[in-house]
Amino acid sequence: MTDHRGAPPPEDPPSLPSVADDEHFMATAIDEARAAAGHGDVPIGAVVVRDGEVVARGRNRREADGDPTAHAEILALREAARTLGRWRLQDCALYVTVEPCAMCAGAAILARLPLIVFGAPEEKTGAVRSTVDLFDDPRALHRPKWRMGARREEIERMLGEFFSGRRGPREVEGEGISSARSSDMNDERGQQDG
Ligand SMILES: [Zn+2]
Repeated sequence: MTDHRGAPPPEDPPSLPSVADDEHFMATAIDEARAAAGHGDVPIGAVVVRDGEVVARGRNRREADGDPTAHAEILALREAARTLGRWRLQDCALYVTVEPCAMCAGAAILARLPLIVFGAPEEKTGAVRSTVDLFDDPRALHRPKWRMGARREEIERMLGEFFSGRRGPREVEGEGISSARSSDMNDERGQQDG
């Protein structure tokens, strides 16, 4: 590293993922979600993307770690910060299977993330559009852009299967996935990550 003269050329700012990239990166977040179900956690997964590459992954580990804050997004943001060696993630996007809760939306703001993409809304705990609109609050320190819907059906099916498998066949019938899931959320007082 001694052969450059003067200051290194400024790097081009990495580009953020576009809508056309969402299905691809959400698939990776879904892989993480499925792995969470493997250790008995509600299947929610997240990845952090920088310059077209996944730089960190996280999955819900609340049950595995016995930690109320071990949400997929928090773990992914921590890993991204470690990997990049900085807390400010202003050039990264967060993909998460389910709408972030207030803690995770707050963490995204603190990390100065410019973009959050989530697949499915979470009516009970979501803090982007469902219960409050943290990213759109004009008083916010930082307002990330966000979009919803990538692979939503796949994600909702996965959650429905997780909860129906847990409860046995008595409840989740037909397509009533979101209502079945919501009742589970109630039972578990906001199981959701997001
Ligand atoms: Zn959360």
